[in-house]
Amino acid sequence: MSNDTPRANQLLARFPNQVYRALLPALESVELPLGRLSTGRYPKDYVYFPVTGIVSLVILTKDGGGAECAIVGRDGMVGTRSLVEGANGDALEAQVQTAGEAYRLDASVLRQHAKDDAAVQNLMTRYLHAIMVQMSQTAICNRYHSIDQRLCRWLLQCIDLISGPRLFMTNQGMADMMGVRRERVTEVLIELEADRLIKRARGSVEVIDPAQVRTRACECYDAITTRTAKLLPPLK
Ligand SMILES: [Zn+2]
Repeated sequence: MSNDTPRANQLLARFPNQVYRALLPALESVELPLGRLSTGRYPKDYVYFPVTGIVSLVILTKDGGGAECAIVGRDGMVGTRSLVEGANGDALEAQVQTAGEAYRLDASVLRQHAKDDAAVQNLMTRYLHAIMVQMSQTAICNRYHSIDQRLCRWLLQCIDLISGPRLFMTNQGMADMMGVRRERVTEVLIELEADRLIKRARGSVEVIDPAQVRTRACECYDAITTRTAKLLPPLK
């Protein structure tokens, strides 16, 4: 299990000190295995604060299709639905794309602190808006930008959430998240590798020139990072 403290999650690191100390005994270290993450499968609803790994928030169709509308890692929290007491069902499914570790918290504990403390309430509201920023920008991105641009945007977002430049994910996994054919993802990755922007390996992609990848990404990466930083300024 991770040696990281819960503060390695940047959202937990933003909690007021006294609230963070009060939460510590209730934070449970858990693995985030690949696949669907059920936030409501246990007797209690939980929220998850990843410290490593990448979780996609996927919107599902009735016939089982899906497309990613936001990604969450050490910057955030999974299970925002649980902030609403008594809320049932969710069109969004959390899928772990890169396995990692998280701290899990009984959602009712977080709800109580949000009721009792205006600073926690404010933080949660800001975080929800940050997720909305990602979702709205992703909608625009899917409608207007090329697969090449979208893939570059997505690679940059992912490496911001992990400790190094190497992202462990298959081409099929990337294609599923983007809602495009695997062959097209492979073509774009081959082009990026030929231009020495990334290095491909089986089941992983290493971004070796993020500045150049940024020039190939659409405006959405900058839009998401800039608008998110206004809601949740980078930690010092
Ligand atoms: Zn875009």
